[in-house]
Amino acid sequence: MFVWREDLGGARIAFTDRNGGVSESPYGSLNLSSVTGDRPERVSANWDLVCNGLGVGAEQLAIMRCVHGTDVLELTEPPQRTRPAVDGLVTSTPGVVLVALVADCAPVLLVDAKARIVGAAHAGRPGLAAGIVAATVERMRSYGADSIVARVGPCVCGECYEVPQTMQDEIASAVPAARSTTRWGTPGLDIGHGVLAQLTDLGIEAAHLPICTMESPDLYSHRRDGNRTGRMAGLVWLE
Ligand SMILES: [Zn+2]
Repeated sequence: MFVWREDLGGARIAFTDRNGGVSESPYGSLNLSSVTGDRPERVSANWDLVCNGLGVGAEQLAIMRCVHGTDVLELTEPPQRTRPAVDGLVTSTPGVVLVALVADCAPVLLVDAKARIVGAAHAGRPGLAAGIVAATVERMRSYGADSIVARVGPCVCGECYEVPQTMQDEIASAVPAARSTTRWGTPGLDIGHGVLAQLTDLGIEAAHLPICTMESPDLYSHRRDGNRTGRMAGLVWLE
């Protein structure tokens, strides 16, 4: 159910995998989004399993409807039955669980345990280049965060993620560290490495879970499986 869980001084983070849920193929089994056609009642049941595993309530969830932009929203309470169309969330309210849904893009979780501020960002190819990570960090800092640590969840790796040369050049002009070569020698992009470089430039200590979504059968991958696959979650909240 969880590929990683950590307590960072009163702030909790978790990344889910695809195991332990009730969805059936091709969504099997712990799919956390109905956007790709899974039955909503199964997605809801999966969320209940995840919430039980984490000891939080479903009403605490603040799930982003990712749009590959750079808007960041600050929440003082969970959004009731709505999904904010942003790629970055920030809160200093205990119990508001920030959620980034992914299947190859990088979920980036940010914690300042001392200032008691957390953030979550969804960094795909467009968001990486546009600066969603920096935008989320800057919002946290505007509220007083000055000792942020980051955890970057599983995403597609630079040896698997093939792109056209022009696209690689475009992204690498904004984020040089994202340039990679695939295992078969063609132009690629390394989203995780790019995000880590951005975090380092921002002076933030970061760790990346080095698991590739395309290579791991325990994870969902849009690149590998196409549109009919599931979504995993990166979650962060203050206790
Ligand atoms: Zn890979």
